[in-house]
Amino acid sequence: MTAEASFGRIALIGIGLIGSSIAHAARRAGAVSHIAGYSRSAESRATAEQIGFCDSVHDDMAAAAADADIVILCAPVGALGPAAAAIAPALKPGAILTDVGSVKSAVIRDAGPHVPEGVHFIPGHPIAGTEHSGPASGFATLFDNRWCILTPPPGTDEAAVAKLIAFWESLGAKVEVMEPRHHDLVLGITSHVPHLIAYNIVGTAADLEEVTQSEVIKFSAGGFRDFTRIAASDPTMWRDVFLNNREAVLEILQRFTEDLTALQRAIRWGDGDALFALFQRTRDIRRSIIEAGQESAAPNFGRDKTS
Ligand code: NAP
Repeated sequence: MTAEASFGRIALIGIGLIGSSIAHAARRAGAVSHIAGYSRSAESRATAEQIGFCDSVHDDMAAAAADADIVILCAPVGALGPAAAAIAPALKPGAILTDVGSVKSAVIRDAGPHVPEGVHFIPGHPIAGTEHSGPASGFATLFDNRWCILTPPPGTDEAAVAKLIAFWESLGAKVEVMEPRHHDLVLGITSHVPHLIAYNIVGTAADLEEVTQSEVIKFSAGGFRDFTRIAASDPTMWRDVFLNNREAVLEILQRFTEDLTALQRAIRWGDGDALFALFQRTRDIRRSIIEAGQESAAPNFGRDKTS
């Protein structure tokens, strides 16, 4: 470990998919001196001990956070306010407190008031994940070439922001700084509403009376199978996302519903040109995502290797 690559002791409050992946990636980078991990359940702690991605595993989040230089809250969004309150007395002056929650305004609202004077609070969100969860699902390459968005409140110490950016870069990520409300709107359309649509369509298929569930499973076509992958994502995490990004999600859903109605009309009136024009435009967007290196053109999206 080189001096400039050393971020000291890190504490992971939650060691599921994201927390354990941070641990694996930090080890790969040789960038930290000690990784302390907290998990609620004895089962998750035992798995973490067995895999060995933490130097110390704790059943008390304040004990994990004590003396850490960077503390990262990696639990579901609804648990981050109480977690910040529980660890606040243990945070050392000058420490960075950050998180990986998929929503930012609500985390600032819930966790911000608990942050002690002298601790740098810099919320964050790595745009990387899979439909798997738990401490056995993490892997070192999860953040490679992925974006991590930081939403530091106005007046945040610049050196602390620079240190956290360098930390995420050491994990393989690219970093962008953004306003929290803008983050919530952008992720609303790129992640949250697509998940809601997937949950909804898989639920509708399961409830259809004229098509049996076994037919849905037996004749599942590529389009439906892709939705089921997204709809298999962790129920607790996604419940908390929708409860905490209500405004942005409802705003985007309103637009979505209007556009769906326009599509319905095009189908009803046989307006093939309108359908073709939209499908052409959306195909171009997928090509742009592949060209930007944010998706693979390989069969099954190249996912077989990582998840
Ligand atoms: P996960 O695999 O389910 O892990 C969640 C971790 O938080 C586990 O260690 C769990 O402990 C702990 N936890 C759960 N409820 C808790 C509570 N009420 N209080 C304290 N700890 C609790 O979840 P994840 O996918 O890593 O997601 C963690 C965070 O990352 C979430 O805020 C999510 O929004 C964000 N995120 C997720 C993704 C993704 O694709 N999954 C991507 C980017 C960001 P036990 O296992 O012991 O119960």
